[in-house]
Order: sequence, then C-alpha cells, then structure tokens
Amino acid sequence: MGTELRSSDLVAVRGQLGRQPTVPFTIVARCTGGHPLVIKNAPRDADGAPFPTTYWLTCPTAVRAVARLEADGWIARLNEREGSDASFAVQGEAAHAAYAVDRSHDKPDSRDWGGVGGTRRGIKCLHAHYAYHLAGGIDVVGAFVAEHVEPIHAAQRPGRVAAIDQGTNSIRLLVVEPSLETAGDPTELARDMIITRLGEGVDRTGLIDPGALERTVVVLERYCRRARALAAERIRVAATSAIRDASNGGDYAVAVRANAGTELEVISGEREAGLSFLGATHGLTPDDAEAPYLVLDDGGGSTEFVIGRRPGRADDAVSTQIGSVRLTERLVRHDPPTTEDLAALARATENGLDDAQARLPLIDARTLIAVAGTATTIRAIALRLPRYDPDAIHRTTLSRNDVERVLGMLSTMTTAERAALPVMAPGRGDVIVAGAVILLHTMNRFGFDKVLVSETDILDGLVFEMLGIG
Ligand SMILES: [Zn+2]
Repeated sequence: MGTELRSSDLVAVRGQLGRQPTVPFTIVARCTGGHPLVIKNAPRDADGAPFPTTYWLTCPTAVRAVARLEADGWIARLNEREGSDASFAVQGEAAHAAYAVDRSHDKPDSRDWGGVGGTRRGIKCLHAHYAYHLAGGIDVVGAFVAEHVEPIHAAQRPGRVAAIDQGTNSIRLLVVEPSLETAGDPTELARDMIITRLGEGVDRTGLIDPGALERTVVVLERYCRRARALAAERIRVAATSAIRDASNGGDYAVAVRANAGTELEVISGEREAGLSFLGATHGLTPDDAEAPYLVLDDGGGSTEFVIGRRPGRADDAVSTQIGSVRLTERLVRHDPPTTEDLAALARATENGLDDAQARLPLIDARTLIAVAGTATTIRAIALRLPRYDPDAIHRTTLSRNDVERVLGMLSTMTTAERAALPVMAPGRGDVIVAGAVILLHTMNRFGFDKVLVSETDILDGLVFEMLGIG
C-alpha cells in the first residue's frame, strides 16, 4: 500500500520504456530537467508474478551510456576481477545480500530471489547495479559504472543540494538542482519519505528508543548515499521536536555527522515555523489565496501555527504540544477508537487551540494552508485517488465537509483497514485519526470552511534557504 506516483511520471516512464509498465513503481531519482532516472518496482507484477529487479534505470540516455560500457566488455572484466580480487568479490556479495534484504521489506519471502537485479552471484547487468547505486545502495559495481558514465547529461548544473527533515514520525529527503534563473524553482531530483517513528515513546520516557534509532539511521545512511550519488554538494539534516525533547538525541547527531558530513541542526519551534511557512507559501500570489495566511503544520509531536502577510515570510508563530503521534499514544486506547477516545482527542486539541489562540491573532487569517501528511492524505481520500498522486493534491482545496466526512470514515475503521487504503503511507494508518481531529477543530475554531493543501513544506523551506531563495 501507499504507492506514490504522479500521473505525469507514469506517462514519462511509459515513453522511456516504450511500453506500458507491468509492475507498480515509484520514482527514486531524476535527471537534470526532472525526467525519471531510476524507478523502484514492487516485488510482484500486476499478475502476482515475482519481479526481482527492484531498482530499474529508465532514462534512455543513461541506459545507452551503460550499454556502451557493457558493449566494451566490462561485464566479463568485472567478473574476472571478482575472481582475482577478494575484497572486490566480498563487496559484490555484500551488495547482493543488502539488495535482497531491501526487497524483502516489501515482500518477506523474496529474500531468496537473488541480489542486484535478481542475480545470485557475479555480475550480470550493469544497469541494475548502477540503478541500485543511484538509489543509495552500497554497490561497488554501481559506483564503478557511475565513475565511467557520469555526467549522464551535459546540461547537468553544479550546485545540487540535499535536505533531510527528521521528524517525530517520519524521515524525509529532498535533493534538488538549482534553477538557471535567480530565485527560480529548483528541479527536484529525489523526494522520499519513510515513517520510522524516531519519536516513539519519547513523550513518555524522554529517550529515543534504541530500535527506533537503529531503523531511522539505516534510512539516514541510505538517503545520504542517494544524495551523494545524485551529486549533492551539501547535505543538511534538520531535526524537530522528537530530537529536541530526547536526552539521548546526541546518538542521532553522531550518525548525522558521520553520514551527512554536517552537524545536525536541531531547530527551534520558531525556526521550524518560519521554514514551514517559506515552503508552503513560496510562489503563492494574492490571486491564489487571500492574505494573511495561516500555515498549519500538523506534525507527529507538535503542531505549529504560522501566520504571515506575505508569501515566503512568516510574521509570527506558535508551537503547541498537540501532535498526531503524541495524542494517539496518550489518548487512543481502542482500535477502532471509541467515542470516549475521540472525545479525549477533541478535548486535548481544544486545549492546544486555546493556547495557540491566546498567543496569536489567528482569527485574522484569511487563508488556511495545511502542510504535512495528514491533510494531503485526507485530500487523497476525499478525491478517491487510486494511488497517491502529489500533483493531484498540491495546492488544491479541501472543504470542511470533506474533512468531517473522511474523519467519520477513518474513525470507524481499524488501523489495519486504514493502512490498507491505497493512498495511505506505511505507518500513518494509526495516527491519522488524531491528525484529522486537529485539522477539523482548527477549521472550526478559526472559521475556515476550506483549507488549501500543500505538498511543499519545511523540507522545501530547507532547500530554498540553502539556495538563497525566499
Ligand atoms: Zn536522463
């Protein structure tokens, strides 16, 4: 579940492959200009047949460049090197093993389908190795290919950057290439999100759980490798409330230093608010939405309310202790939630809203803009999308009636039923009810009968800042 794909990318990949794709996929990496470079395939095709090639190179220029290496006899030469160079052979085997483990996250019984591109030993297809390298895999053969074929496009521009937003619930990556025009929108090269729950239990114990730390660092490592494989010159990692509140947050900071080569930025609620506002409102015009703007960042550990009269520049913000993970952990005792559970969520939310309202004139805002997964997922459900398509969601309007209707539907479902919805990201199924309660009560409290839903948020704000935009 939770496959994310833009309709425009489906069309592009169909053109690149010269046929209808037979396996559900998502985009892992893009080239200069934004066309797909690497896709990630589901472990089974539409008919249920095993599909061992998880990462697939689709850009025709890249495919041709790698084919030239193959035509020059490099498959045989690299296999010979495996025979004579023990360290090279060990690294090759490690890549196959890691690839099989990676695929088995989606399909546990697929471990024995082989490694890179379904190969059990040795080197069969340089395209598969290069695709794995670009996705962030540790692949000595893929790295060799990269050295020989890059840059794929002569038009590739310098100054690529990456940002990682470490939240309470999720870890997210954005890699971009700067625009030719000053302050123009950068080209997205990779955008990814995985829910690892780094903040799980922090509210109760004050500590990051060792298991949560381990599974988050695995993703962090892969994201940093993917950013470097895509030629990012700088990687910035920012962490929000989960890390801020934990006494062992230093363990995560050590992993950041080792992998990103930069210091973890633990950003204050105020900075977080400013970056969310920048990401959410950059490029908005008064024709799109009337000012002042109120940006609602309904996160796992906290919810930020940010107000501003001009796009890109926050005037003031308030951070509250209401967050979807925090409230779910504290207050939801049953699956599906009972009337009492829902009433407890509503009460806690109202208290948070009282606090926010006492500190800022939120009632003056003319346009409400919601960022983060709760609002975008509710929009996807309201639209009855067959899969999560960010282009169908970004900067579209969600009505209060739809929020109410979707909340009503989600709160009668079990976590497993919600998780099985085709637009639900893995790991969001249990906390979205609390997130929806926060969104609905915010709309009710401040008199909004609609909300503008934004796919761009703090993560975009982080890269805009790196590129000197906004
Ligand atoms: Zn390309």
